[in-house]
Amino acid sequence: MIRVECPLCKYKMPLFFEETAECSGVMVSCKGRNCHARFELRIKNGKQIK
Ligand SMILES: [Zn+2]
Repeated sequence: MIRVECPLCKYKMPLFFEETAECSGVMVSCKGRNCHARFELRIKNGKQIK
């Protein structure tokens, strides 16, 4: 399982995906301290696009 990472602060989110995952259009709020980014989670070929 691969962990979702915030593209701004690199915080590792409590959110995981499999190598077979494909995803777009999913909005995630970063839980990192001092980072209130909301980013679109995009996964292609089992990798998060940052
Ligand atoms: Zn962040």
